[in-house]
Amino acid sequence: PPCAGLAFGPQPRRATREVIVGGVHLGGGAPVVVQSMTNTDTADIAGTTRQVAELWRAGSELVRVTVNTPEAAAAVPRIVDKLAMMGLDVPIIGDFHYNGHQLLTGEPACARALAKYRINPGNVGFGKKKDTQFATLIELAIEHGKPVRIGANWGSLDQALATRLMDENHLLPQPLEAAEVLREALIRSALDSAARAVELGLPAERIVLSAKVSGVQELIAVYRELARRGDYALHLGLTEAGIGSKGIVASSAALAVLLQEGIGDTIRISLTPEPGQSRTTEVIVAQELLQTLGLRAFTPMVTACPGCGRTTSSFFQELAKAVQEHVRAKMPEWKVTHPGAENLTLAVMGCVVNGPGESRHANIGISLPGTGEAPSAPVFEDGEKTVTLRGENIAREFVELIDRYVER
Ligand code: SF4
Repeated sequence: PPCAGLAFGPQPRRATREVIVGGVHLGGGAPVVVQSMTNTDTADIAGTTRQVAELWRAGSELVRVTVNTPEAAAAVPRIVDKLAMMGLDVPIIGDFHYNGHQLLTGEPACARALAKYRINPGNVGFGKKKDTQFATLIELAIEHGKPVRIGANWGSLDQALATRLMDENHLLPQPLEAAEVLREALIRSALDSAARAVELGLPAERIVLSAKVSGVQELIAVYRELARRGDYALHLGLTEAGIGSKGIVASSAALAVLLQEGIGDTIRISLTPEPGQSRTTEVIVAQELLQTLGLRAFTPMVTACPGCGRTTSSFFQELAKAVQEHVRAKMPEWKVTHPGAENLTLAVMGCVVNGPGESRHANIGISLPGTGEAPSAPVFEDGEKTVTLRGENIAREFVELIDRYVER
C-alpha cells in the first residue's frame, strides 16, 4: 500500500550510560522515568512525608526535595525513615543550591539517606571558592556512593563562564548572536562540570545532566546538543513552564519532540499549581505524555469525543471523566492482580456518528445516544457489540463491565 514504509513511532532511545538512583534505572535502555518535586518546607517532616507519599502513589518514581537549611538536612533521614515505616521505598533526591557542600558535610545522615544529589553548577559557590565547593560535593557523592545530577539552569547560569564565552565571542571574525552564546554557556556549564566530576573520581555512570530553560525551542536546541556531545543520562524538563494549560502545553510540546527523537531518560513536568490544584497533576501529565507517545503505559487510556450539538447532555463527558478516574484509582491494585491492564484502551463516545467506530477500536467502548437517537447505549468489547445499556444506571453498569473485562 502507498503508506508502507512511512516512519512510525519514536526513534530508538539514545544510547546512554545507565545510572541507578535508589534502585530506579535511568538511561541505558531503561524506560523513561517519571519524577516530581515537593513544594513543602522540607524541615516540616510530617508535611513533606505526606506530599512525598502522595506523589509516589500518583506514580512519581523519584521524588526531589529542597535541602536548603540545616533543619531541612536534619529532616531528610527522618522523612526517609517515616516513608520506610509506611512501606514506601521512595528514592529521595536532595536539591542543593549555594550551600550543599556545607549541609551534606554537617549532616552525614542526610548524605546517606538521599538517593541522589542535584547540584547547580551556576551556584555551588562563587569566585575562587567555587571549585572547592563543587569538589566537596562530588567527594561526598563518591564517599557515599551516590549519583549526582548536574543541573544547569537558564535562570542561574554560571556568570563567570557566560562572561568568558561572551568575551571570546567578540574576538571571532563572525561573532554569534548573544542568545547563541548563552545557550552554549548553559551546555558547557553542564558538560564541563560533568568532566570535572569525572576528573575528581565520580564514575560517569553516576552522572545525570540537565540544562533547563523556559522556552520550548530553546529547550529542544539545548538538549539536542547535549545529546550530541555526550552519552550521559539526561533529565528533561522545561523550567518555569507556567500555570494551567500553558504549562502543560509548553512542557508537552518541548518534551514530546525530544522524546520522539529518543532523547531523555527521566522527565519532570514543572507546573505552577493553580489554587487548590494537587501537586500530583504534574505526575499525571508526565505519565500521560509518555503514554500518549507510546513510550510507557501506566493506566488504561480513555478516548472520548469532545461532544457537539448532537450530544443530548453533558452526561457522556461526566461518564468519560468517571471512567478515567475509576481506572486510575483501580490501577495500583490491577498492577498487582492484572498486569497489562494499563495497556487497555477505553472509549466513551457521544453519538452514533463516531461512537460505534471508535468504540470498536477500543478494548471496551460505549456509544451513548445523541440527539434524536434511540435511548440506548451499545457497548463494544474487542470490536464486537456485546450488550446495549438503557435507563438510569448506564454509568454504573458500564464501569462494572470494565471491571469484568479486566477480570477476564
Ligand atoms: Fe459530536 Fe457525535 Fe462526534 Fe461526539 S461522536 S463529537 S457527539 S458527532
